[in-house]
Amino acid sequence: MSFTLHGLGVSGGIAIGRALLMSHATLEVSHLTVGPRMVDREIARFDQAVATVKSELAAMKESTEHAPAELSAFIDIHTMFLEDPELIDKPREIIRARRCNAEWALVQQMEQLVAQFEQFDDPYLRERKLDVRQVVERVIKELLGHPSRAAMKADKGLKEETLVVVAHDLSPADVISFKEHRFASFITDVGGATSHTAILARSMAIPSVVGLSNARSLIRDGEVLIIDGMRGVVIIDPDERVLEEYQLRKNQIELEKTKLKRLKNSKSQTIDGIDVALYANIELPVDTPEALEGGAEGIGLFRTEFLFLDRGDMPDEQEQYEAYKKVVKGMGGRPVTIRTFDLGNDKDLHPDSSVHDRVKTNPALGRRAIRLSLAEPQMFQTQLRAILRASKFGPIKLLIPMLAHAHEIDQTLAALEQAKSSLRGEKVAFDEDIQVGGMIEIPAAALAIGLFLRRLDFLSIGTNDLIQYTLAIDRSDEQVASLYDPLHPAVLMLLAHTISSAEKANVPVSVCGEMAGDPLLTRLFLGMGLRIFSMHPSQILKVKNRVLKANAGELAPTVRRMLRQEEPGKLREALEKLNA
Ligand code: PEP
Ligand code: MG
Repeated sequence: MSFTLHGLGVSGGIAIGRALLMSHATLEVSHLTVGPRMVDREIARFDQAVATVKSELAAMKESTEHAPAELSAFIDIHTMFLEDPELIDKPREIIRARRCNAEWALVQQMEQLVAQFEQFDDPYLRERKLDVRQVVERVIKELLGHPSRAAMKADKGLKEETLVVVAHDLSPADVISFKEHRFASFITDVGGATSHTAILARSMAIPSVVGLSNARSLIRDGEVLIIDGMRGVVIIDPDERVLEEYQLRKNQIELEKTKLKRLKNSKSQTIDGIDVALYANIELPVDTPEALEGGAEGIGLFRTEFLFLDRGDMPDEQEQYEAYKKVVKGMGGRPVTIRTFDLGNDKDLHPDSSVHDRVKTNPALGRRAIRLSLAEPQMFQTQLRAILRASKFGPIKLLIPMLAHAHEIDQTLAALEQAKSSLRGEKVAFDEDIQVGGMIEIPAAALAIGLFLRRLDFLSIGTNDLIQYTLAIDRSDEQVASLYDPLHPAVLMLLAHTISSAEKANVPVSVCGEMAGDPLLTRLFLGMGLRIFSMHPSQILKVKNRVLKANAGELAPTVRRMLRQEEPGKLREALEKLNA
């Protein structure tokens, strides 16, 4: 009988295939008592399993050098857990004290740790309980004698491309092996929009739905499934008509993807001959090949704070310099916009880091981004010197996040001058004329834009934060996610005002928030006068496709009229017409 499950679509596309149920090893563990003489053997078995999983992770890290940045970060987190005494020493103590089997001891300790993680207020830290479960799952599978890879082996006679993995949860390591195995899709019972698995699925473009609650218990091995990763829907045992309809949509999506690839080398220009620059947002140097592959003309936003995350120490000048140099060299002469670290909000420092305690209670409104940089001059100098040193290898632009005050720019420029003069003193080469730009992501900055236009070489609008601060919606709070509205008239007014003011002042302006990568908004932005977009690499060709079909001159008056509209319903209608 056909039925439908609803979850969270975390990665678009459609997949059709047969269900392959993944075992959930931690649920299979039984409690066994071992004799006194077997205790040491049980501990040795535990140590051996941990060592095997660690070396598997290390091998995986090596083989994924060009994989998305998140990937190696997850492997690092899992490896870190396998070095944590809480997860490694405690089970040994439990085996000895309770004379039990290694699997059971490990599951007991895992439950303890998961309970501790659940106490955290911070949603990111709370979600790390999933990492604990995932890494324990791997060790348990090793102990039970069926390592993860084996659990994913397809049945004889069925091609992997026709299989949909159904799991309670997947570890990032499992997702990596998807690359080798070419499964059609995966769906899981748990996981949210910000779970590691979801982020990974997106960056690997595997259609996927998470948070289905009980898919694993409702779906049987071999059942036909349709996965709609866009709408978060899973249809089990569909009838012929539904199957045909989805097959048709799937073919259309694939055709569009193939067609888009042909646009990679075509000039990004509107019908009326206006050049539109399409840049990539990246988080780590390993993202550079993906940016080039996506057809980026440069890097519009390098979120350098990712170099600082998930570690107890700070990257020193040399490490940062190497990272920036790698990106600049990788981009082969194309411009690279390096944003100074935006730490303190959702991207919190490791609790062991020396400045962690200086970031206070309401992080989004507190000492974040440039505020933290100016409060930590040493840390800021280290970064500025590293960026300047890398500027010798290609065109680098410096971007300052979260500006609200003119004096923040003045102080930043003074700090930059200090870094330059120290390098001059040391006779180290750098680009003397490095351009300095500012992120417009606080409504105050958008409204008093003149202050910024007079002091900066370029602007970049961070719509993710601009929406958060304009609408007073915490961008990481799921409970108010429905109120986070990029099309709110106030947001559109601020965007239009910033873009047209910059145009009048002859200061280049880009948009680098998520809105820039939404093809449904490309025509709206072009009509506002935007000529530089920066987005996730996977979106570039979709946006280029819109650019190529647009007439910017004709769009301008239509968009001006549209922006006079305040009623949300009418605005949406007008946007639909604009895209029709
Ligand atoms: C933004 O705020 O839109 C932005 C691009 O920066 P981040 O998402 O890193 O805050
Ligand atoms: Mg921002």
